[in-house]
Amino acid sequence: MTVTVVGSIAFDGVETPSGKRDRIHGGAAFHFAQAASFYTDVRVVGPVGDDYGDEDIALLGTRGTNTDDVERVAGGKTFFWQGKYHDDLNSRDTIVTELNVFESFEPKLSAESQASDVLFLANIVPALQRAVRAQCQAAKWVALDSMDLWIDIAHGDLVAAIGEIDCLILNDGELQQLTGAATTYAAAQAILAWDEAPSAIIAKLGSYGATVYTQDGGFTVPVFPLESVVDPTGAGDTFAGGVVGYVAARLAADPDLVVDRDVLATALLHGTATASHNVEAFGAEKLYDLPGSAVQARVDRLVELTRVPEAPVALRA
Ligand code: AMP
Repeated sequence: MTVTVVGSIAFDGVETPSGKRDRIHGGAAFHFAQAASFYTDVRVVGPVGDDYGDEDIALLGTRGTNTDDVERVAGGKTFFWQGKYHDDLNSRDTIVTELNVFESFEPKLSAESQASDVLFLANIVPALQRAVRAQCQAAKWVALDSMDLWIDIAHGDLVAAIGEIDCLILNDGELQQLTGAATTYAAAQAILAWDEAPSAIIAKLGSYGATVYTQDGGFTVPVFPLESVVDPTGAGDTFAGGVVGYVAARLAADPDLVVDRDVLATALLHGTATASHNVEAFGAEKLYDLPGSAVQARVDRLVELTRVPEAPVALRA
Protein backbone atom coordinates (compact mmCIF):
# COMPACT_ATOMS: atom_id res chain seq x y z
CA MET A 1 0.00 0.00 0.00
CA THR A 2 1.45 3.36 -1.01
CA VAL A 3 0.42 6.88 -0.01
CA THR A 4 1.23 9.74 -2.37
CA VAL A 5 1.36 13.26 -0.91
CA VAL A 6 1.43 16.42 -3.03
CA GLY A 7 2.35 19.68 -1.31
CA SER A 8 4.97 22.10 -0.09
CA ILE A 9 8.56 21.20 0.76
CA ALA A 10 10.08 24.15 2.57
CA PHE A 11 12.71 25.80 4.65
CA ASP A 12 11.07 27.42 7.66
CA GLY A 13 12.14 30.16 10.05
CA VAL A 14 10.39 29.69 13.38
CA GLU A 15 10.28 31.68 16.62
CA THR A 16 8.46 30.32 19.67
CA PRO A 17 8.74 31.07 23.41
CA SER A 18 11.27 28.17 23.52
CA GLY A 19 13.68 29.71 21.02
CA LYS A 20 14.37 30.52 17.41
CA ARG A 21 15.49 28.64 14.29
CA ASP A 22 16.37 30.57 11.12
CA ARG A 23 16.25 27.71 8.64
CA ILE A 24 14.86 24.27 9.39
CA HIS A 25 13.17 21.63 7.27
CA GLY A 26 9.45 22.14 6.84
CA GLY A 27 6.58 22.22 4.40
CA ALA A 28 3.28 20.38 4.51
CA ALA A 29 4.46 17.40 2.43
CA PHE A 30 7.67 17.12 4.50
CA HIS A 31 5.80 17.01 7.82
CA PHE A 32 3.14 14.66 6.42
CA ALA A 33 5.78 12.21 5.15
CA GLN A 34 7.63 12.15 8.49
CA ALA A 35 4.42 10.87 10.11
CA ALA A 36 2.85 8.69 7.40
CA SER A 37 6.14 6.80 6.92
CA PHE A 38 5.61 5.13 10.33
CA TYR A 39 2.72 3.24 8.72
CA THR A 40 3.35 2.62 5.05
CA ASP A 41 5.33 3.50 1.89
CA VAL A 42 5.12 7.19 1.07
CA ARG A 43 5.85 9.00 -2.21
CA VAL A 44 6.35 12.78 -2.09
CA VAL A 45 5.51 15.08 -5.00
CA GLY A 46 6.61 18.71 -4.72
CA PRO A 47 9.15 21.25 -5.97
CA VAL A 48 12.46 22.34 -4.44
CA GLY A 49 15.23 24.65 -5.64
CA ASP A 50 18.97 24.24 -6.16
CA ASP A 51 19.42 25.11 -2.49
CA TYR A 52 17.81 21.82 -1.46
CA GLY A 53 20.81 19.51 -1.22
CA ASP A 54 21.19 15.75 -1.24
CA GLU A 55 21.28 15.68 2.57
CA ASP A 56 17.94 17.56 2.63
CA ILE A 57 16.43 15.04 0.20
CA ALA A 58 17.82 12.26 2.42
CA LEU A 59 15.95 13.70 5.42
CA LEU A 60 12.76 13.86 3.37
CA GLY A 61 13.40 10.17 2.67
CA THR A 62 13.24 9.21 6.37
CA ARG A 63 11.86 5.66 6.89
CA GLY A 64 12.10 4.92 3.16
CA THR A 65 9.91 7.72 1.78
CA ASN A 66 10.33 7.79 -2.00
CA THR A 67 11.54 11.16 -3.35
CA ASP A 68 11.75 10.32 -7.08
CA ASP A 69 8.92 12.78 -7.83
CA VAL A 70 10.53 15.68 -5.96
CA GLU A 71 11.19 18.17 -8.72
CA ARG A 72 14.47 20.06 -8.36
CA VAL A 73 14.01 23.28 -10.32
CA ALA A 74 17.32 24.43 -11.84
CA GLY A 75 18.11 28.00 -10.82
CA GLY A 76 15.15 28.02 -8.42
CA LYS A 77 14.87 28.64 -4.67
CA THR A 78 12.96 26.44 -2.24
CA PHE A 79 9.70 27.71 -0.71
CA PHE A 80 10.45 29.69 2.48
CA TRP A 81 8.03 30.38 5.31
CA GLN A 82 8.70 32.28 8.53
CA GLY A 83 6.38 32.47 11.51
CA LYS A 84 6.38 33.77 15.07
CA TYR A 85 4.18 32.22 17.75
CA HIS A 86 2.34 34.07 20.48
CA ASP A 87 2.97 33.05 24.09
CA ASP A 88 -0.07 30.73 24.22
CA LEU A 89 1.25 28.84 21.12
CA ASN A 90 -2.31 28.65 19.79
CA SER A 91 -1.84 31.51 17.36
CA ARG A 92 1.02 32.76 15.21
CA ASP A 93 1.89 35.55 12.80
CA THR A 94 3.24 34.73 9.37
CA ILE A 95 6.24 37.03 8.89
CA VAL A 96 7.46 35.86 5.47
CA THR A 97 6.03 33.66 2.70
CA GLU A 98 8.40 33.35 -0.26
CA LEU A 99 6.71 31.01 -2.73
CA ASN A 100 9.79 30.77 -4.99
CA VAL A 101 9.61 27.47 -6.98
CA PHE A 102 6.17 26.80 -5.46
CA GLU A 103 4.70 29.74 -7.42
CA SER A 104 4.87 28.00 -10.80
CA PHE A 105 4.45 24.45 -9.48
CA GLU A 106 2.64 22.10 -11.84
CA PRO A 107 2.52 18.66 -10.22
CA LYS A 108 3.97 15.96 -12.44
CA LEU A 109 3.22 12.52 -11.06
CA SER A 110 5.13 9.46 -12.24
CA ALA A 111 3.13 6.37 -13.19
CA GLU A 112 4.04 4.91 -9.77
CA SER A 113 2.64 7.91 -7.87
CA GLN A 114 -0.48 7.97 -10.05
CA ALA A 115 -1.06 4.31 -9.16
CA SER A 116 -1.08 4.96 -5.38
CA ASP A 117 -3.98 3.50 -3.42
CA VAL A 118 -4.17 6.43 -1.02
CA LEU A 119 -3.65 10.12 -1.81
CA PHE A 120 -3.16 13.17 0.42
CA LEU A 121 -3.71 16.54 -1.23
CA ALA A 122 -1.87 18.90 1.10
CA ASN A 123 -2.63 22.61 1.13
CA ILE A 124 -2.07 23.90 -2.44
CA VAL A 125 -4.21 25.81 -4.99
CA PRO A 126 -7.53 23.88 -5.21
CA ALA A 127 -7.37 23.74 -9.04
CA LEU A 128 -4.04 21.88 -8.74
CA GLN A 129 -5.54 19.54 -6.14
CA ARG A 130 -8.24 18.69 -8.69
CA ALA A 131 -5.66 18.14 -11.43
CA VAL A 132 -3.74 15.72 -9.19
CA ARG A 133 -6.94 13.94 -8.16
CA ALA A 134 -7.79 13.45 -11.85
CA GLN A 135 -4.36 11.86 -12.44
CA CYS A 136 -4.87 9.34 -9.60
CA GLN A 137 -7.86 7.36 -10.79
CA ALA A 138 -6.72 4.23 -8.93
CA ALA A 139 -6.83 5.89 -5.51
CA LYS A 140 -9.20 4.11 -3.14
CA TRP A 141 -9.15 6.78 -0.46
CA VAL A 142 -8.28 10.48 -0.81
CA ALA A 143 -7.94 13.14 1.90
CA LEU A 144 -7.53 16.89 1.42
CA ASP A 145 -6.32 19.86 3.48
CA SER A 146 -6.68 23.56 2.61
CA MET A 147 -6.41 26.99 4.22
CA ASP A 148 -8.25 30.28 4.76
CA LEU A 149 -6.62 31.90 1.68
CA TRP A 150 -8.21 29.38 -0.74
CA ILE A 151 -11.56 29.52 1.07
CA ASP A 152 -11.45 33.29 0.43
CA ILE A 153 -10.19 33.49 -3.15
CA ALA A 154 -10.93 30.09 -4.74
CA HIS A 155 -14.13 29.02 -2.98
CA GLY A 156 -15.77 27.42 -6.04
CA ASP A 157 -12.68 25.40 -6.98
CA LEU A 158 -12.25 24.27 -3.38
CA VAL A 159 -15.88 23.10 -3.10
CA ALA A 160 -15.42 21.19 -6.38
CA ALA A 161 -12.18 19.62 -5.08
CA ILE A 162 -13.91 18.59 -1.83
CA GLY A 163 -16.62 16.92 -3.93
CA GLU A 164 -14.02 14.59 -5.41
CA ILE A 165 -12.43 13.25 -2.21
CA ASP A 166 -13.29 10.96 0.72
CA CYS A 167 -12.10 12.90 3.75
CA LEU A 168 -11.76 16.65 4.37
CA ILE A 169 -9.28 17.71 7.08
CA LEU A 170 -9.58 21.38 8.16
CA ASN A 171 -9.30 23.52 11.29
CA ASP A 172 -12.60 24.22 13.08
CA GLY A 173 -12.45 27.90 12.08
CA GLU A 174 -11.82 27.02 8.44
CA LEU A 175 -14.86 24.70 8.39
CA GLN A 176 -17.03 27.53 9.66
CA GLN A 177 -15.47 29.96 7.17
CA LEU A 178 -16.09 27.51 4.31
CA THR A 179 -19.79 27.06 5.12
CA GLY A 180 -20.78 30.18 7.05
CA ALA A 181 -22.12 27.88 9.79
CA ALA A 182 -22.12 29.06 13.41
CA THR A 183 -20.59 25.92 14.93
CA THR A 184 -18.08 23.30 13.77
CA TYR A 185 -20.76 20.62 14.12
CA ALA A 186 -23.16 22.56 11.90
CA ALA A 187 -20.40 23.17 9.36
CA ALA A 188 -19.57 19.46 9.16
CA GLN A 189 -23.24 18.48 8.83
CA ALA A 190 -23.68 21.07 6.04
CA ILE A 191 -20.74 19.65 4.08
CA LEU A 192 -21.88 16.04 4.61
CA ALA A 193 -25.21 17.09 3.05
CA TRP A 194 -23.66 18.53 -0.16
CA ASP A 195 -24.69 16.72 -3.39
CA GLU A 196 -21.01 15.90 -3.96
CA ALA A 197 -19.68 15.34 -0.44
CA PRO A 198 -16.82 13.50 1.24
CA SER A 199 -17.88 10.66 3.56
CA ALA A 200 -15.88 12.10 6.47
CA ILE A 201 -14.94 15.52 7.82
CA ILE A 202 -12.13 15.87 10.35
CA ALA A 203 -12.02 19.09 12.37
CA LYS A 204 -8.64 19.94 13.89
CA LEU A 205 -9.24 21.79 17.14
CA GLY A 206 -5.66 22.96 17.82
CA SER A 207 -4.72 22.36 21.44
CA TYR A 208 -8.22 20.98 22.12
CA GLY A 209 -7.89 17.82 19.99
CA ALA A 210 -9.81 16.72 16.91
CA THR A 211 -13.26 15.47 15.91
CA VAL A 212 -14.36 13.25 13.02
CA TYR A 213 -17.88 13.56 11.60
CA THR A 214 -19.45 10.90 9.34
CA GLN A 215 -22.98 9.85 8.34
CA ASP A 216 -22.75 7.08 10.98
CA GLY A 217 -21.65 9.28 13.86
CA GLY A 218 -18.61 11.04 15.17
CA PHE A 219 -15.76 10.79 17.64
CA THR A 220 -13.62 13.32 19.49
CA VAL A 221 -10.07 12.76 20.72
CA PRO A 222 -8.46 15.11 23.25
CA VAL A 223 -5.02 16.54 22.65
CA PHE A 224 -2.23 14.35 24.07
CA PRO A 225 -1.28 15.65 27.54
CA LEU A 226 2.20 17.22 27.41
CA GLU A 227 4.16 19.19 30.01
CA SER A 228 5.48 21.57 27.36
CA VAL A 229 5.33 22.37 23.65
CA VAL A 230 8.44 23.60 21.83
CA ASP A 231 7.16 24.29 18.29
CA PRO A 232 3.65 23.57 16.92
CA THR A 233 4.72 24.14 13.28
CA GLY A 234 3.53 21.30 11.08
CA ALA A 235 1.34 19.75 13.77
CA GLY A 236 -1.64 19.75 11.38
CA ASP A 237 0.28 18.02 8.59
CA THR A 238 1.86 15.54 11.00
CA PHE A 239 -1.62 14.79 12.37
CA ALA A 240 -2.84 14.22 8.79
CA GLY A 241 0.14 11.92 8.17
CA GLY A 242 -0.78 9.78 11.17
CA VAL A 243 -4.45 9.64 10.17
CA VAL A 244 -3.85 8.88 6.49
CA GLY A 245 -0.94 6.51 7.22
CA TYR A 246 -3.10 4.52 9.64
CA VAL A 247 -5.95 4.28 7.10
CA ALA A 248 -3.46 3.09 4.44
CA ALA A 249 -2.11 0.40 6.80
CA ARG A 250 -5.66 -0.81 7.51
CA LEU A 251 -6.46 -0.87 3.77
CA ALA A 252 -3.26 -2.85 3.16
CA ALA A 253 -4.48 -5.50 5.61
CA ASP A 254 -8.02 -5.51 4.18
CA PRO A 255 -8.47 -3.97 0.70
CA ASP A 256 -12.29 -4.19 1.05
CA LEU A 257 -12.33 -2.24 4.31
CA VAL A 258 -14.93 0.54 4.47
CA VAL A 259 -13.24 3.56 6.03
CA ASP A 260 -16.05 4.40 8.41
CA ARG A 261 -16.46 6.18 11.74
CA ASP A 262 -14.77 3.42 13.75
CA VAL A 263 -11.70 3.23 11.49
CA LEU A 264 -11.37 7.01 11.57
CA ALA A 265 -11.84 7.17 15.36
CA THR A 266 -8.72 5.03 15.76
CA ALA A 267 -7.00 7.01 13.00
CA LEU A 268 -7.54 10.17 15.07
CA LEU A 269 -5.63 8.58 17.96
CA HIS A 270 -2.71 7.91 15.62
CA GLY A 271 -2.79 11.42 14.16
CA THR A 272 -2.86 12.89 17.66
CA ALA A 273 -0.01 10.66 18.87
CA THR A 274 2.31 11.50 15.94
CA ALA A 275 1.51 15.22 16.19
CA SER A 276 2.24 15.17 19.94
CA HIS A 277 5.80 14.01 19.24
CA ASN A 278 6.20 16.59 16.47
CA VAL A 279 5.47 19.56 18.73
CA GLU A 280 8.10 18.56 21.31
CA ALA A 281 11.00 19.79 19.15
CA PHE A 282 11.59 22.39 16.42
CA GLY A 283 10.31 21.43 12.97
CA ALA A 284 10.03 17.64 12.60
CA GLU A 285 13.34 17.02 14.40
CA LYS A 286 11.94 14.62 16.99
CA LEU A 287 10.40 12.32 14.38
CA TYR A 288 13.56 11.52 12.40
CA ASP A 289 14.87 8.86 14.81
CA LEU A 290 11.72 8.15 16.77
CA PRO A 291 10.82 4.45 17.03
CA GLY A 292 7.29 3.45 16.01
CA SER A 293 6.87 1.99 19.51
CA ALA A 294 6.96 5.55 20.93
CA VAL A 295 4.00 6.49 18.73
CA GLN A 296 2.15 3.31 19.72
CA ALA A 297 2.74 4.02 23.44
CA ARG A 298 0.94 7.36 23.07
CA VAL A 299 -1.89 5.75 21.08
CA ASP A 300 -2.32 3.29 23.98
CA ARG A 301 -2.43 6.17 26.46
CA LEU A 302 -5.07 7.92 24.34
CA VAL A 303 -7.14 4.73 24.30
CA GLU A 304 -7.07 4.80 28.13
CA LEU A 305 -7.93 8.50 28.19
CA THR A 306 -10.97 8.08 25.93
CA ARG A 307 -12.40 4.91 27.52
CA VAL A 308 -15.49 5.75 29.56
CA PRO A 309 -16.83 2.96 31.79
CA GLU A 310 -20.61 2.64 31.66
CA ALA A 311 -21.99 3.04 35.15
CA PRO A 312 -25.56 4.33 34.95
CA VAL A 313 -27.43 5.74 37.93
CA ALA A 314 -31.18 6.27 38.27
CA LEU A 315 -31.97 9.86 37.35
CA ARG A 316 -34.76 11.73 39.16
CA ALA A 317 -37.87 12.50 37.12
P1 AMP B 1 0.95 23.92 9.90
O1 AMP B 1 1.68 24.35 11.14
O2 AMP B 1 0.32 22.56 10.01
O3 AMP B 1 0.02 24.99 9.39
O4 AMP B 1 2.04 23.73 8.76
C1 AMP B 1 3.13 24.59 8.64
C2 AMP B 1 3.93 24.21 7.42
O5 AMP B 1 3.23 24.63 6.24
C3 AMP B 1 5.28 24.90 7.43
O6 AMP B 1 6.30 23.93 7.47
C4 AMP B 1 5.30 25.74 6.14
O7 AMP B 1 6.48 25.55 5.40
C5 AMP B 1 4.09 25.29 5.34
N1 AMP B 1 3.34 26.41 4.76
C6 AMP B 1 3.16 27.64 5.31
N2 AMP B 1 2.42 28.42 4.48
C7 AMP B 1 2.12 27.66 3.39
C8 AMP B 1 1.38 27.88 2.16
N3 AMP B 1 0.80 29.05 1.88
N4 AMP B 1 1.27 26.86 1.27
C9 AMP B 1 1.85 25.67 1.54
N5 AMP B 1 2.57 25.39 2.66
C10 AMP B 1 2.70 26.36 3.58
